Amino acid sequence: MQADGSGFTPLLNNILSLGMITSWLPGDQKGLLGTLTIFLMGWLLEMGRNAYTWFSERWRFQYSLTAEFSEGDPAFDWILAFLSKQQAWRNSWNFKISAKTLQRKNGVEASQICKGHKSENAEYVPTYQNPQLFRWEGYWIEISKTLSSSSYNYQEDRSISSSTFYLTVYTRDVSVVSSLVEQARMEYMEMSQPHVIIHTSNRSYIPFYWNECKRKPRRSLESVILEEGVLDSLVFDAREFLGMEEWYQTTGIPYRRGYLLYGPPGSGKTSTVYALAGELELEIYSLSLASSSMDDSLLAAAVGCIPKRSIFLLEDIDCAFSRIDESNSTNSTRMYGMTPKCNVTLSGLLNVLDGVASQEGVLFFATTNHVEDLDNALIRPGRIDKKVRYHHAVQAQAAALYKRFYPISHCAPESASEDVSDEEKTVRIDDLAARFSQSIPDKTFTAAELQGFLLTCKFQPEKAVREVKDWADNTMKE
Ligand code: ADP
Repeated sequence: MQADGSGFTPLLNNILSLGMITSWLPGDQKGLLGTLTIFLMGWLLEMGRNAYTWFSERWRFQYSLTAEFSEGDPAFDWILAFLSKQQAWRNSWNFKISAKTLQRKNGVEASQICKGHKSENAEYVPTYQNPQLFRWEGYWIEISKTLSSSSYNYQEDRSISSSTFYLTVYTRDVSVVSSLVEQARMEYMEMSQPHVIIHTSNRSYIPFYWNECKRKPRRSLESVILEEGVLDSLVFDAREFLGMEEWYQTTGIPYRRGYLLYGPPGSGKTSTVYALAGELELEIYSLSLASSSMDDSLLAAAVGCIPKRSIFLLEDIDCAFSRIDESNSTNSTRMYGMTPKCNVTLSGLLNVLDGVASQEGVLFFATTNHVEDLDNALIRPGRIDKKVRYHHAVQAQAAALYKRFYPISHCAPESASEDVSDEEKTVRIDDLAARFSQSIPDKTFTAAELQGFLLTCKFQPEKAVREVKDWADNTMKE
């Protein structure tokens, strides 16, 4: 008989020889011995399996390091992005497939998986349900993911689960793990570079984490048209703040900076924050106080997990200040946002801004349409350090908006035979932009309204000039 290397052949020989030994026994004793033999073999197999598990665990314990990455922590996103670049997902049998949108959260495009079978519409994200092994920089790494039910949400009557990645690196050298995490962080930053990353959350319970992440193409500062100097001074101020950590520490001033952007809706407040984040390469953590689930403890928890050097954007902060019954309230504990939706108190908000829960090194931006509704305690220096007022568009802004809409590359010659130089196109667009802006009254429309009108005349600069006056008259009458 040939050895098959699996150990099965010797085992078979033993069973056969046992059969020969028992051949002289009477029939009923033969059966008993056979049962005993099978029992013994099963026991031996189980012992062997346990011994193997025990030894492999000891070996793993001796020669590996395991790092844990929990959902909600920025490092979780770095690792997810890092893994999507490794080969490990190619062995994956379990994928989460979602419609592909602009929001590409750390997934691998379907076209990368199905070579030659390009799908533009779906995104495949490995779920890592089973542990997977891959090699990185000469080290074996095992990756597994668990979904744990950490708590129960009585409001929504369901249990809440969160994911955790376990990365086991087969080495005792801790620096390997830290260089892997650093590489993951660098790759994540590189991947995010043409985008602004906006974290939000729909969690209405603690433990809170920022569970939604959108990527928006970066918006240039020039595309936000404000009064001259406004954007430059904001960028200068924020950049200076980011470079002065040591100074804040030595002078003992809390390392935080607050900005209030106020003015009519559609005047560019949110766009300013997005453009600034792109310019300074910061991620945005955005919340709305108008959310019905938001209360003091959730707000504090949310702010508590914003990493350093990020922007915390609290939109439409005035929603939290619509007072219903001031006579029943005291100054410090008065409930703001007595609209049925907002449960954040002034003291809760101030605590967050003053540092009980607030992170150091975070740029805080609050936007509001109704600055008059805000409490003076909130907007005093130290909480809000810089206020920027937004207006309805003045004529110069309208002209600049027009030129952004119709760059000279869109300025087609009036007839096919006409050969127009770039200089002539510039003069033509400047002239049209001037006519456009003179047809609308100053400080009457927001930039968003003008943008809405211009969208009805895409690629038709002359039509926009022809029709803007009627549009403005009709809109004012409404
Ligand atoms: P707000 O936050 O003041 O309500 P947004 O920044 O959300 O306004 O702007 C809404 C839309 O209008 C966006 O699409 C933005 O591009 C456009 N918009 C508003 N203001 C400006 C501006 N000053 N310059 C350029 N675009 C603007």
